[in-house]
Amino acid sequence: MDVQNIMTHEFGHWCGLDDLYNSSDYWLTMYGYSGYGETYKQTLGWGDILGLKAVYGP
Ligand SMILES: [Zn+2]
Repeated sequence: MDVQNIMTHEFGHWCGLDDLYNSSDYWLTMYGYSGYGETYKQTLGWGDILGLKAVYGP
């Protein structure tokens, strides 16, 4: 497993975001499942950014 991939996701939890399980959220960092060799969660997806804005305001 890619450490940064997982840590970015876990940092999202620390910021107050929950896991996502809709298939439409597959490419978001906060999607609840991850696979071996996966790296796209090293950066935030647009939906992740929207989630952070929802938690912390404008
Ligand atoms: Zn999670």
